[in-house]
Amino acid sequence: KKKIAVMTSGGDSPGMNGVVRAVVRTAIHLGCDAFAVYEGYEGLVRGGDYIKRMEWHDVRGWLSEGGTLIGTARCMAFYERPGRMTAAKNMVLHGIDALIICGGDGSLTGADKFRAEWPSLLEELVSKGELTKDQVAPYKHLNIVGIVGSIDNDLSGTDATVGCYSALARICEMVDYIEATASSHSRAFVIEVMGRHCGWLALLAGVASGADFIFIPERPQPQDWREDMGNVVTRHRSLGKRKTIVIVAEGARDKDGNKITPEDVRDLLADKTEDGLGLDTRITTLGHVQRGGTAVAYDRMLGTLQGVEAVHAVLEATPDTETCFIAINENKIVRKPLMEAVQDTKKVAAAVDAKDFEKAMSLRDAEFSD
Ligand code: ATP
Repeated sequence: KKKIAVMTSGGDSPGMNGVVRAVVRTAIHLGCDAFAVYEGYEGLVRGGDYIKRMEWHDVRGWLSEGGTLIGTARCMAFYERPGRMTAAKNMVLHGIDALIICGGDGSLTGADKFRAEWPSLLEELVSKGELTKDQVAPYKHLNIVGIVGSIDNDLSGTDATVGCYSALARICEMVDYIEATASSHSRAFVIEVMGRHCGWLALLAGVASGADFIFIPERPQPQDWREDMGNVVTRHRSLGKRKTIVIVAEGARDKDGNKITPEDVRDLLADKTEDGLGLDTRITTLGHVQRGGTAVAYDRMLGTLQGVEAVHAVLEATPDTETCFIAINENKIVRKPLMEAVQDTKKVAAAVDAKDFEKAMSLRDAEFSD
Protein backbone atom coordinates (compact mmCIF):
# COMPACT_ATOMS: atom_id res chain seq x y z
CA LYS A 1 0.00 0.00 0.00
CA LYS A 2 1.38 3.39 -0.99
CA LYS A 3 1.79 5.79 1.95
CA ILE A 4 1.27 9.42 1.01
CA ALA A 5 1.92 12.33 3.38
CA VAL A 6 0.62 15.88 3.05
CA MET A 7 2.16 18.95 4.66
CA THR A 8 1.56 22.73 4.75
CA SER A 9 4.63 24.96 4.96
CA GLY A 10 5.69 28.63 4.94
CA GLY A 11 3.05 31.33 5.46
CA ASP A 12 -0.47 29.99 5.85
CA SER A 13 -3.14 30.78 3.30
CA PRO A 14 -6.90 30.22 3.17
CA GLY A 15 -7.68 27.02 1.30
CA MET A 16 -4.78 24.96 2.67
CA ASN A 17 -7.26 22.88 4.69
CA GLY A 18 -9.11 22.11 1.48
CA VAL A 19 -5.84 20.79 0.01
CA VAL A 20 -5.17 18.56 3.03
CA ARG A 21 -8.75 17.25 3.01
CA ALA A 22 -8.62 16.47 -0.71
CA VAL A 23 -5.23 14.71 -0.49
CA VAL A 24 -6.26 12.60 2.52
CA ARG A 25 -9.59 11.54 1.04
CA THR A 26 -8.30 10.94 -2.50
CA ALA A 27 -5.43 8.86 -1.14
CA ILE A 28 -7.84 6.74 0.93
CA HIS A 29 -10.29 6.49 -1.99
CA LEU A 30 -7.51 5.17 -4.22
CA GLY A 31 -6.47 2.54 -1.69
CA CYS A 32 -3.47 4.31 -0.14
CA ASP A 33 -2.65 5.21 3.46
CA ALA A 34 -2.76 8.95 4.17
CA PHE A 35 -0.55 10.82 6.61
CA ALA A 36 -0.33 14.45 7.70
CA VAL A 37 2.94 16.04 8.75
CA TYR A 38 2.18 18.67 11.40
CA GLU A 39 4.07 22.01 11.65
CA GLY A 40 5.68 21.92 8.20
CA TYR A 41 9.32 20.77 7.89
CA GLU A 42 9.67 21.14 11.66
CA GLY A 43 7.32 18.17 12.04
CA LEU A 44 9.24 16.17 9.48
CA VAL A 45 12.49 16.77 11.38
CA ARG A 46 10.93 16.04 14.79
CA GLY A 47 9.07 12.94 13.61
CA GLY A 48 7.10 10.83 16.14
CA ASP A 49 3.65 12.25 16.79
CA TYR A 50 4.22 15.06 14.30
CA ILE A 51 3.56 12.52 11.55
CA LYS A 52 0.02 11.27 11.95
CA ARG A 53 -2.01 8.67 10.08
CA MET A 54 -5.20 10.32 8.80
CA GLU A 55 -8.60 8.73 8.38
CA TRP A 56 -11.52 9.92 6.29
CA HIS A 57 -13.28 11.51 9.29
CA ASP A 58 -10.16 13.32 10.51
CA VAL A 59 -10.64 16.00 7.85
CA ARG A 60 -14.42 16.30 8.19
CA GLY A 61 -15.55 19.94 8.09
CA TRP A 62 -12.10 21.24 7.10
CA LEU A 63 -13.21 22.98 3.91
CA SER A 64 -14.79 25.85 5.79
CA GLU A 65 -11.94 26.35 8.27
CA GLY A 66 -9.40 29.17 7.81
CA GLY A 67 -5.61 28.89 8.23
CA THR A 68 -4.08 25.42 8.28
CA LEU A 69 -5.29 22.92 10.87
CA ILE A 70 -2.11 20.81 10.59
CA GLY A 71 -0.01 23.88 11.41
CA THR A 72 2.91 25.45 9.59
CA ALA A 73 6.28 26.73 10.76
CA ARG A 74 9.57 28.12 9.55
CA CYS A 75 12.20 25.45 10.13
CA MET A 76 15.87 26.42 10.26
CA ALA A 77 17.05 22.80 10.60
CA PHE A 78 15.68 21.87 7.17
CA TYR A 79 17.98 24.39 5.45
CA GLU A 80 20.91 22.17 6.53
CA ARG A 81 21.71 18.64 5.34
CA PRO A 82 21.71 17.07 8.87
CA GLY A 83 18.16 18.35 9.38
CA ARG A 84 17.07 16.89 6.05
CA MET A 85 18.77 13.60 6.96
CA THR A 86 16.74 13.34 10.18
CA ALA A 87 13.62 14.13 8.12
CA ALA A 88 14.48 11.30 5.69
CA LYS A 89 14.97 8.89 8.58
CA ASN A 90 11.57 9.84 10.05
CA MET A 91 9.90 9.28 6.71
CA VAL A 92 11.42 5.82 6.31
CA LEU A 93 10.46 4.91 9.88
CA HIS A 94 6.85 5.83 9.03
CA GLY A 95 7.08 4.04 5.67
CA ILE A 96 6.36 7.20 3.68
CA ASP A 97 7.92 7.78 0.26
CA ALA A 98 5.59 10.35 -1.24
CA LEU A 99 5.07 13.88 0.00
CA ILE A 100 2.60 16.50 -1.19
CA ILE A 101 3.63 19.96 -0.01
CA CYS A 102 1.43 23.03 -0.05
CA GLY A 103 3.53 26.16 0.45
CA GLY A 104 5.36 29.08 -1.15
CA ASP A 105 8.47 29.10 -3.33
CA GLY A 106 10.78 28.59 -0.33
CA SER A 107 8.95 25.46 0.76
CA LEU A 108 8.93 24.08 -2.76
CA THR A 109 12.66 24.79 -3.22
CA GLY A 110 13.34 22.89 0.01
CA ALA A 111 11.18 20.03 -1.27
CA ASP A 112 13.10 19.75 -4.52
CA LYS A 113 16.43 19.80 -2.70
CA PHE A 114 15.18 17.03 -0.40
CA ARG A 115 14.08 14.93 -3.37
CA ALA A 116 17.41 15.39 -5.18
CA GLU A 117 19.40 14.45 -2.07
CA TRP A 118 17.16 11.56 -1.03
CA PRO A 119 19.35 8.62 -2.26
CA SER A 120 22.49 10.08 -0.72
CA LEU A 121 20.66 10.85 2.55
CA LEU A 122 19.56 7.21 2.80
CA GLU A 123 23.07 6.00 1.95
CA GLU A 124 24.54 8.12 4.73
CA LEU A 125 21.89 6.94 7.21
CA VAL A 126 22.89 3.34 6.43
CA SER A 127 26.62 4.04 6.63
CA LYS A 128 26.13 5.71 10.03
CA GLY A 129 24.18 2.70 11.25
CA GLU A 130 20.99 4.71 11.86
CA LEU A 131 18.99 2.59 9.44
CA THR A 132 19.68 -0.84 7.95
CA LYS A 133 19.99 -1.67 4.24
CA ASP A 134 16.75 -3.68 4.48
CA GLN A 135 14.93 -0.74 6.07
CA VAL A 136 15.82 1.66 3.24
CA ALA A 137 15.52 -0.84 0.38
CA PRO A 138 11.84 -0.13 -0.45
CA TYR A 139 12.37 3.66 -0.49
CA LYS A 140 14.75 4.23 -3.39
CA HIS A 141 12.98 7.32 -4.73
CA LEU A 142 11.22 10.13 -2.97
CA ASN A 143 8.18 11.33 -4.80
CA ILE A 144 7.34 15.00 -4.28
CA VAL A 145 4.46 17.04 -5.67
CA GLY A 146 3.95 20.73 -4.90
CA ILE A 147 0.80 22.81 -4.59
CA VAL A 148 1.26 26.55 -4.29
CA GLY A 149 -0.33 28.04 -1.19
CA SER A 150 0.20 31.78 -0.97
CA ILE A 151 -1.99 34.86 -0.59
CA ASP A 152 0.34 36.92 -2.83
CA ASN A 153 -0.25 34.96 -6.06
CA ASP A 154 3.50 35.23 -6.53
CA LEU A 155 4.49 31.99 -8.26
CA SER A 156 5.29 31.94 -11.96
CA GLY A 157 3.54 29.39 -14.14
CA THR A 158 0.14 29.30 -12.43
CA ASP A 159 -2.73 31.73 -12.83
CA ALA A 160 -3.73 31.57 -9.18
CA THR A 161 -2.27 30.25 -5.94
CA VAL A 162 -4.41 28.70 -3.20
CA GLY A 163 -5.46 31.61 -0.97
CA CYS A 164 -4.97 34.62 -3.23
CA TYR A 165 -8.65 35.09 -4.07
CA SER A 166 -9.61 34.89 -0.40
CA ALA A 167 -7.08 37.60 0.46
CA LEU A 168 -8.31 39.71 -2.45
CA ALA A 169 -11.93 39.30 -1.32
CA ARG A 170 -10.95 40.28 2.22
CA ILE A 171 -9.17 43.43 1.01
CA CYS A 172 -12.17 44.45 -1.09
CA GLU A 173 -14.50 43.92 1.85
CA MET A 174 -12.25 46.11 4.04
CA VAL A 175 -12.06 48.81 1.37
CA ASP A 176 -15.88 48.79 1.22
CA TYR A 177 -16.03 49.41 4.98
CA ILE A 178 -13.48 52.19 4.73
CA GLU A 179 -15.22 53.79 1.76
CA ALA A 180 -18.45 54.25 3.70
CA THR A 181 -16.73 56.30 6.38
CA ALA A 182 -14.42 58.05 3.87
CA SER A 183 -17.45 59.25 1.89
CA SER A 184 -19.27 60.42 4.99
CA HIS A 185 -16.38 62.65 6.08
CA SER A 186 -15.05 63.38 2.60
CA ARG A 187 -11.74 61.81 3.66
CA ALA A 188 -8.81 60.20 1.89
CA PHE A 189 -7.54 56.77 2.93
CA VAL A 190 -4.19 55.24 2.14
CA ILE A 191 -4.51 51.46 2.43
CA GLU A 192 -1.41 49.29 2.68
CA VAL A 193 -1.79 45.72 1.43
CA MET A 194 0.61 42.76 1.40
CA GLY A 195 3.00 42.13 -1.51
CA ARG A 196 6.75 42.75 -1.22
CA HIS A 197 7.72 41.57 -4.67
CA CYS A 198 4.39 40.90 -6.26
CA GLY A 199 1.72 43.58 -6.64
CA TRP A 200 -1.08 41.24 -7.71
CA LEU A 201 -3.18 41.88 -4.59
CA ALA A 202 -2.79 45.68 -4.81
CA LEU A 203 -3.41 45.73 -8.57
CA LEU A 204 -6.54 43.59 -8.47
CA ALA A 205 -7.83 45.26 -5.29
CA GLY A 206 -7.47 48.57 -7.13
CA VAL A 207 -9.48 47.23 -10.05
CA ALA A 208 -12.12 45.57 -7.87
CA SER A 209 -12.63 48.54 -5.56
CA GLY A 210 -12.24 51.34 -8.11
CA ALA A 211 -9.35 52.93 -6.20
CA ASP A 212 -8.08 56.35 -7.30
CA PHE A 213 -4.41 55.34 -7.46
CA ILE A 214 -2.28 52.26 -6.76
CA PHE A 215 1.41 51.64 -6.09
CA ILE A 216 2.93 48.21 -6.93
CA PRO A 217 6.53 46.95 -6.98
CA GLU A 218 6.58 45.90 -10.63
CA ARG A 219 5.62 49.32 -11.95
CA PRO A 220 7.83 51.75 -10.08
CA GLN A 221 6.69 55.36 -10.13
CA PRO A 222 8.56 58.06 -12.04
CA GLN A 223 10.14 60.81 -9.95
CA ASP A 224 7.15 63.10 -10.47
CA TRP A 225 4.65 60.61 -9.02
CA ARG A 226 3.51 63.23 -6.52
CA GLU A 227 2.37 65.50 -9.31
CA ASP A 228 0.75 62.59 -11.18
CA MET A 229 -1.20 61.39 -8.19
CA GLY A 230 -2.14 64.96 -7.22
CA ASN A 231 -3.59 65.56 -10.70
CA VAL A 232 -5.58 62.33 -10.67
CA VAL A 233 -7.02 62.92 -7.20
CA THR A 234 -7.83 66.58 -7.96
CA ARG A 235 -9.62 65.52 -11.16
CA HIS A 236 -11.66 62.87 -9.35
CA ARG A 237 -12.59 65.33 -6.60
CA SER A 238 -13.60 67.97 -9.16
CA LEU A 239 -15.98 65.41 -10.69
CA GLY A 240 -17.81 65.21 -7.37
CA LYS A 241 -16.09 62.24 -5.67
CA ARG A 242 -16.25 62.64 -1.87
CA LYS A 243 -13.73 59.93 -1.06
CA THR A 244 -10.18 59.12 -2.12
CA ILE A 245 -8.73 55.60 -1.91
CA VAL A 246 -5.06 54.92 -2.62
CA ILE A 247 -3.73 51.37 -2.38
CA VAL A 248 -0.04 50.85 -1.62
CA ALA A 249 1.65 47.44 -1.83
CA GLU A 250 4.34 46.79 0.81
CA GLY A 251 6.99 46.69 -1.91
CA ALA A 252 5.97 49.96 -3.66
CA ARG A 253 8.96 51.94 -4.99
CA ASP A 254 9.98 54.75 -7.28
CA LYS A 255 12.21 54.25 -10.32
CA ASP A 256 15.36 54.82 -8.24
CA GLY A 257 14.29 51.96 -6.01
CA ASN A 258 13.32 54.19 -3.07
CA LYS A 259 10.46 52.77 -1.07
CA ILE A 260 7.17 54.65 -1.32
CA THR A 261 5.50 54.35 2.07
CA PRO A 262 1.87 54.99 3.06
CA GLU A 263 3.22 57.94 5.09
CA ASP A 264 4.77 59.49 1.93
CA VAL A 265 1.42 59.23 0.19
CA ARG A 266 -0.51 60.51 3.21
CA ASP A 267 1.79 63.54 3.55
CA LEU A 268 1.09 64.48 -0.03
CA LEU A 269 -2.69 64.05 0.19
CA ALA A 270 -2.84 65.91 3.50
CA ASP A 271 -0.48 68.75 2.51
CA LYS A 272 -2.21 71.97 3.51
CA THR A 273 0.16 74.34 1.70
CA GLU A 274 -1.01 76.23 -1.38
CA ASP A 275 0.01 73.46 -3.86
CA GLY A 276 -1.15 70.62 -1.61
CA LEU A 277 -4.44 68.73 -1.66
CA GLY A 278 -5.23 69.43 1.98
CA LEU A 279 -7.36 66.31 2.43
CA ASP A 280 -8.21 64.85 5.82
CA THR A 281 -6.18 61.66 5.29
CA ARG A 282 -5.85 58.43 7.30
CA ILE A 283 -3.66 55.36 6.85
CA THR A 284 -5.03 51.83 7.27
CA THR A 285 -2.61 48.92 7.26
CA LEU A 286 -4.68 45.81 6.66
CA GLY A 287 -2.04 43.36 7.95
CA HIS A 288 -3.04 39.84 8.87
CA VAL A 289 -6.78 40.19 8.22
CA GLN A 290 -5.70 39.57 4.61
CA ARG A 291 -4.37 36.15 5.54
CA GLY A 292 -6.94 34.97 8.06
CA GLY A 293 -10.56 33.96 7.84
CA THR A 294 -12.26 31.31 5.79
CA ALA A 295 -11.47 30.56 2.17
CA VAL A 296 -13.73 31.91 -0.57
CA ALA A 297 -15.44 29.34 -2.80
CA TYR A 298 -12.72 29.68 -5.48
CA ASP A 299 -9.92 28.71 -3.09
CA ARG A 300 -11.93 25.77 -1.72
CA MET A 301 -12.48 24.58 -5.28
CA LEU A 302 -8.85 25.18 -6.31
CA GLY A 303 -7.44 23.44 -3.22
CA THR A 304 -9.74 20.47 -3.72
CA LEU A 305 -9.09 20.00 -7.45
CA GLN A 306 -5.34 20.45 -7.02
CA GLY A 307 -5.25 18.07 -4.03
CA VAL A 308 -6.96 15.37 -6.11
CA GLU A 309 -4.59 15.94 -9.03
CA ALA A 310 -1.53 15.84 -6.73
CA VAL A 311 -2.43 12.33 -5.52
CA HIS A 312 -2.86 11.16 -9.13
CA ALA A 313 0.53 12.72 -9.99
CA VAL A 314 2.16 10.83 -7.10
CA LEU A 315 0.65 7.52 -8.19
CA GLU A 316 1.58 7.97 -11.85
CA ALA A 317 5.17 9.14 -11.23
CA THR A 318 8.11 6.99 -12.28
CA PRO A 319 11.73 7.39 -11.07
CA ASP A 320 12.41 9.47 -14.19
CA THR A 321 9.47 11.83 -13.77
CA GLU A 322 10.51 15.44 -13.23
CA THR A 323 9.23 16.92 -9.94
CA CYS A 324 6.03 18.74 -10.68
CA PHE A 325 3.66 21.14 -9.06
CA ILE A 326 -0.04 21.45 -9.73
CA ALA A 327 -0.97 24.67 -11.51
CA ILE A 328 -4.12 26.19 -12.92
CA ASN A 329 -3.79 27.61 -16.43
CA GLU A 330 -6.80 29.03 -18.22
CA ASN A 331 -9.12 27.17 -15.85
CA LYS A 332 -7.43 23.82 -16.39
CA ILE A 333 -5.68 21.96 -13.59
CA VAL A 334 -2.28 20.96 -14.99
CA ARG A 335 1.07 19.49 -13.89
CA LYS A 336 4.14 21.65 -14.53
CA PRO A 337 7.88 21.36 -13.80
CA LEU A 338 8.44 22.64 -10.28
CA MET A 339 11.92 24.10 -10.40
CA GLU A 340 11.36 26.04 -13.61
CA ALA A 341 8.48 27.91 -11.96
CA VAL A 342 10.50 28.53 -8.78
CA GLN A 343 13.46 29.83 -10.78
CA ASP A 344 11.26 32.13 -12.89
CA THR A 345 9.70 33.49 -9.70
CA LYS A 346 13.11 34.16 -8.16
CA LYS A 347 14.25 35.96 -11.32
CA VAL A 348 11.43 38.50 -10.98
CA ALA A 349 12.12 39.04 -7.27
CA ALA A 350 15.88 39.40 -7.96
CA ALA A 351 15.21 41.93 -10.74
CA VAL A 352 12.99 44.00 -8.42
CA ASP A 353 15.66 43.84 -5.67
CA ALA A 354 18.37 44.87 -8.16
CA LYS A 355 16.15 47.80 -9.21
CA ASP A 356 16.11 46.42 -12.74
CA PHE A 357 12.43 47.19 -13.13
CA GLU A 358 12.39 46.88 -16.89
CA LYS A 359 13.56 43.31 -16.60
CA ALA A 360 11.04 42.60 -13.83
CA MET A 361 8.26 44.02 -15.99
CA SER A 362 9.28 42.08 -19.09
CA LEU A 363 9.49 38.84 -17.07
CA ARG A 364 6.00 39.44 -15.67
CA ASP A 365 4.68 40.39 -19.13
CA ALA A 366 6.17 37.19 -20.57
CA GLU A 367 4.46 35.24 -17.81
CA PHE A 368 1.07 36.79 -18.52
CA SER A 369 1.37 36.24 -22.26
CA ASP A 370 2.33 32.56 -21.77
P1 ATP B 1 5.83 32.24 1.96
O1 ATP B 1 7.07 32.99 1.61
O2 ATP B 1 4.74 32.36 0.97
O3 ATP B 1 5.39 32.49 3.36
P2 ATP B 1 7.53 29.96 1.68
O4 ATP B 1 7.24 28.52 1.49
O5 ATP B 1 8.28 30.64 0.57
O6 ATP B 1 6.16 30.67 1.96
P3 ATP B 1 9.79 30.04 3.48
O7 ATP B 1 9.88 30.58 4.87
O8 ATP B 1 10.69 30.57 2.44
O9 ATP B 1 8.26 30.17 3.08
O10 ATP B 1 10.03 28.45 3.55
C1 ATP B 1 9.37 27.63 4.50
C2 ATP B 1 10.32 26.57 5.02
O11 ATP B 1 10.78 25.78 3.92
C3 ATP B 1 11.59 27.11 5.66
O12 ATP B 1 11.41 27.46 7.01
C4 ATP B 1 12.54 25.94 5.50
O13 ATP B 1 12.32 24.97 6.48
C5 ATP B 1 12.15 25.36 4.14
N1 ATP B 1 13.00 25.92 3.07
C6 ATP B 1 12.84 27.08 2.39
N2 ATP B 1 13.83 27.28 1.49
C7 ATP B 1 14.64 26.22 1.59
C8 ATP B 1 15.87 25.82 0.95
N3 ATP B 1 16.45 26.57 0.01
N4 ATP B 1 16.43 24.65 1.32
C9 ATP B 1 15.86 23.87 2.27
N5 ATP B 1 14.73 24.20 2.92
C10 ATP B 1 14.12 25.34 2.61
